[in-house]
Amino acid sequence: MNTSIQHIVILGAGESGVGAALLAKAKGYSVFVSDAGEIKDKYKAELNENAIEWEEGGHTMSRILNADEVIKSPGIPNSSALIKKIRKAGLRPICDIEFAARYTNAKLIAITGSNGKTTTTHLVHHVLETDGMVVEKAGNVGVSLARSIIEDKAECYVIELSSFQLEDMYDFKADIAVLLNITPDHLDRYNDSILEYGKAKMRIIQNQTEDDVFIYNADDPQINKQLETHKVNAKSYPFSLVDQTVEGGFYNKEEQTITIKNKLTMSIHDLALKGKHNVQNSLVAGIAGRLVDIRKESIRESLADFTNVEHRLEFVAKVNGIEFINDSKATNINATWYALESMTNPTVWVVGGVDKGNDYEELIPLVQEKVKAIICLGKDNSKIIEAFSGVVDTIVETQSPVEAVGFGYQLAKKDETVLLSPACASFDLFENYEDRGQQFKNAVRSL
Ligand code: ADP
Repeated sequence: MNTSIQHIVILGAGESGVGAALLAKAKGYSVFVSDAGEIKDKYKAELNENAIEWEEGGHTMSRILNADEVIKSPGIPNSSALIKKIRKAGLRPICDIEFAARYTNAKLIAITGSNGKTTTTHLVHHVLETDGMVVEKAGNVGVSLARSIIEDKAECYVIELSSFQLEDMYDFKADIAVLLNITPDHLDRYNDSILEYGKAKMRIIQNQTEDDVFIYNADDPQINKQLETHKVNAKSYPFSLVDQTVEGGFYNKEEQTITIKNKLTMSIHDLALKGKHNVQNSLVAGIAGRLVDIRKESIRESLADFTNVEHRLEFVAKVNGIEFINDSKATNINATWYALESMTNPTVWVVGGVDKGNDYEELIPLVQEKVKAIICLGKDNSKIIEAFSGVVDTIVETQSPVEAVGFGYQLAKKDETVLLSPACASFDLFENYEDRGQQFKNAVRSL
């Protein structure tokens, strides 16, 4: 326990906040949890069981400002009045991961990027676990890192990090840092500046020394731009789909193989995850695996038998020869670009939702090549219709997955694909992307 810190306030009582509260309590701090919204019953019960004080439906500023340290949910922007007040009082809020990492000596593999974090976190975890390593994953799904660290049984933690979390991290150091890509997303929180957003992502390498490792996408223009102004102390292992001289790993288009650290070569047809973006994710998992001494056989086996995470290019069913794919997690243009790129059949594309400032221009060549019809699934589809009129003959509008799947089934023929890859957030018609994906799958299954 850090003796200068006694009172910890935690803002936000989701899995990460409650995990942090439990860890802080276990380490002997006095803990107070404050949530502006409603706290889920299961978390209230857990806080009560552990004699942790909490409030919901608002923040008692006097108590918050009395803290020695504030741990905040990444969902609360630094530009909010609440955080501004806290900073003005001389406190520097940190995120749950920064706090949790203080209490473990295990190896930390931290993964960030605009797209592919969850998939790659799961994949790296699977590679390490297949070889018998005691490894746990932390991120947007499942158990929070802080909760895992209460018992701290793992030799290694694989941690998914968003730019929002990274913004509130200062002393954290990744043994292995991974940067997958920097493409437009959440720019509303970065003054519409991709450079500012990219800068937050680059915090993944902060505090690294020459004993650490940095794995990054050498093909990404925004990463390369950031590298011009960031000093990398760690040993770099870039990966590439086009350059076969990079040290980490690369794709060979002619041979249809990937090669990891110049030692392990595998056919991309043996990879469980399809599509170029997943070649990148598989390269990362292979490189990270080799760097923590995972045996080659285990890497081959695990990259081949991995089961993809739900809502990411997830195969749903084949109905009368028509394939249905759920990529509901594609909430920005880049993710959808990769989904369309990986389509091998003529595709009926289900797209739409809450537009985050999308520029559909980038998708036009792929849409021309692969898409035979567009089904809009959103409240306001005007931008999509405007962008693709004249590119695709058939564009229909729907407001529910049942309707969209019905049209998909009508418009696609045998050996064609209906792909839900919305390129938009889901909040106009759905609770979240999981709800959208689930409703889509239910509609397919009831065809
Ligand atoms: P994140 O956790 O960063 O949101 P996910 O793994 O949940 O990423 O995937 C989000 C979307 O991005 C899915 O549609 C998925 O198919 C796509 N995707 C996965 N990996 C990549 C990648 N390396 N580059 C671009 N898109 C990707």
